[in-house]
Amino acid sequence: MREALQLVLARVEVLSPESVPLLDALGRILSAPVIAADNLPPFANSAMDGYAVRAGDVTGATSESPVALRVLGDIAAGTDPTLELTSGTAARIMTGAPLPARADAVVPVEDTDEHWRGKERPLPAAIKVFRAVDAGDYVRYPGEDVRVGEEVLLAGKQIRPQEIGVMASLGISQIPVVRRPRVGVLATGDELVDVSMPLTKGKIRNSNGYAQAAQVLALGGVPVQLGVAGDTEAAVREKLDEAVHLGVDLLVSSAGVSVGAYDVVKSVLDEAGGVSFWRVRMRPGKPLAFGAYRGIPYLGLPGNPVSAMVSFETFARPAIQKMAGHTNVERPSVQVILLEDIRSDGRESYLRAVVTRDERGYVARTTGGQGSHMMTSLVQANALVVVPEGVKAVTAGTILTALMIDWPGGVF
Ligand code: AMP
Ligand code: MG
Repeated sequence: MREALQLVLARVEVLSPESVPLLDALGRILSAPVIAADNLPPFANSAMDGYAVRAGDVTGATSESPVALRVLGDIAAGTDPTLELTSGTAARIMTGAPLPARADAVVPVEDTDEHWRGKERPLPAAIKVFRAVDAGDYVRYPGEDVRVGEEVLLAGKQIRPQEIGVMASLGISQIPVVRRPRVGVLATGDELVDVSMPLTKGKIRNSNGYAQAAQVLALGGVPVQLGVAGDTEAAVREKLDEAVHLGVDLLVSSAGVSVGAYDVVKSVLDEAGGVSFWRVRMRPGKPLAFGAYRGIPYLGLPGNPVSAMVSFETFARPAIQKMAGHTNVERPSVQVILLEDIRSDGRESYLRAVVTRDERGYVARTTGGQGSHMMTSLVQANALVVVPEGVKAVTAGTILTALMIDWPGGVF
């Protein structure tokens, strides 16, 4: 599996950059570093509601021997103070308001005899200070968080809400990010009808086409839904040509890659320029084709819905994430204690499981029917527990790796 994945990853490239509005950058990968054009904070300001002072004026102040200061004025947040402190004076100041000239500290309002409530409180002519402060106390200095010229965010960083906040603070409204991968999603099979169509004898609904499109979407990619191609080379080629025409970065199809008489995907791929590998020693998902169609990397997933989803997770997801600029394409994993005995067939196996946490740590239990057509066990699962290659039986209590599809609720 590892070698197969390395082959896939070696064949896909990080996509080109584009510029998007700030909020649209959420979840995307920075294609260039963010360099600060401003200091953060941009100016010295107060960390508290209180009085801006000169620390030297309140040396030795206590509640028993307070120091009296004359109040020169009021500085609200968002104003540009013109007043300047002189010895023995103070200015009332709000959190975030600029420090006046020659002030070097702030005395919190609680440490004075002025406990104002609300805006109506008139400005006192003088206050008593009950506590000494050092120069710098309750002052936020310019550049303390970010300095002008600093590389605040590195290229390759995935943008989370906190990165959005930092970029907003720095006045960056257009963000250079890696383009979203466009992935053509094709379902193949004469038995398939669309979700909106009535079922007739022998037919089933095309679930893979939607499940894989959703997997692409969930990764931040753009699914290009190609619908269903019947089991002929011509039908498959027609859909693939349509995808090439629409412009896609990756092609993903399901079914038609095993050894049945109608399995045409592999022959289409073979003709188009060779299949890099076909059949991976894993379960579910053994038949898997990888190659290129008219220069576009192509993954032919197995047809069984669970196999298709697990193979997508194993091979298509990392490929899409690499194209989107991610440097780490590993699924988050945890070590889990298996709560039951299980058998395997010696292939590397991905068991649908629920991982929860109890006093022993993370524990895992499989979610019933593991047949590769049984979607509900994937619906109940929040993880895939990996049984390594060569292992045929695992007893309860064994520690295995679980790839987390999502995290157990309420743990973090
Ligand atoms: P195949 O790889 O064509 O032999 O298909 C394997 C199994 O997957 C068969 O039972 C198919 O009916 C089923 N299958 C193939 N494609 C889809 C699809 N798009 N949605 C749901 N089931 C599918
Ligand atoms: Mg088929």
